[in-house]
Amino acid sequence: MKVVLLGTGGPRPDPRRNASTTLIRCGEENILFDAGRGVVVQLVKAGVPLTALNPVFITHHHFDHIGDLYDLMLATWLAGRKGPLKIYGPSETTRIVNALITQVYDKDIYWRDKGEPTLGGWPPLEVQDILPGPVVDTGRWRVRAELVNHGDGLGMPASFMPRWTCLGYRFEAEGKTVAISGDTIPCAGLDRLAEGADVLVQCCYLASEEINNEHFRRLAQHTMACAADVGRIATRAGVKTLVLTHHKTRTDQSMLDRIAEEVSRDFSGRLIMGEDLTEIDV
Ligand SMILES: [Zn+2]
Repeated sequence: MKVVLLGTGGPRPDPRRNASTTLIRCGEENILFDAGRGVVVQLVKAGVPLTALNPVFITHHHFDHIGDLYDLMLATWLAGRKGPLKIYGPSETTRIVNALITQVYDKDIYWRDKGEPTLGGWPPLEVQDILPGPVVDTGRWRVRAELVNHGDGLGMPASFMPRWTCLGYRFEAEGKTVAISGDTIPCAGLDRLAEGADVLVQCCYLASEEINNEHFRRLAQHTMACAADVGRIATRAGVKTLVLTHHKTRTDQSMLDRIAEEVSRDFSGRLIMGEDLTEIDV
């Protein structure tokens, strides 16, 4: 089993990084977590046949995590996908996918479906809005979702918050565990999904010395784990390998070095500073 970081950046364009998206390769199967900017090109670069990708688990609905979901649905079709692409995500994932295929790309789908019949017709999607708990168990691997905290304390209207569900995922196969934090600050759900993980793919946005304005202070408190948090999270959970992703756009290496120093104070296991297309054997 192998983890491949397809994207390690955030919502802001970064010449060095695509948006945060992680792939698990398990035998012949390819399981995707999120579908951010650049996902399809990154899959090709990683040597993954687009027809061998299924399913997709969405962590939340920020555009750096679903921005290229349309590309994934359409490009896997053009590549020869015959069966349904399965998509799991928090509440309203179905609404978003339906909007893409019935309101945004409906003409494109119709055009290729009717005008290029050798493509075999539009293959179905199977979308499911999920709740925290067990999601899929194939007998070969299983996935569980946990609720994580990505902005709960920002003071958004109470009427909006029930619509803002953010998930992390725990993937188990071959006696090994990979945890995908999603976007989150330290929280009980993250502790549960990371417990004893062989690999934790963890968002880590800022070094402490980058937290130098009100926006970043609020972000570090309510939105994204940062360097002072992630070593403690991994140590508390007994994680063996900690992989850091979802990096801020930066022009040089210096703050990544500072993050590694900070995290190493709290965590003595293997630390990997994620780059696009980093592969981790599990
Ligand atoms: Zn994000």
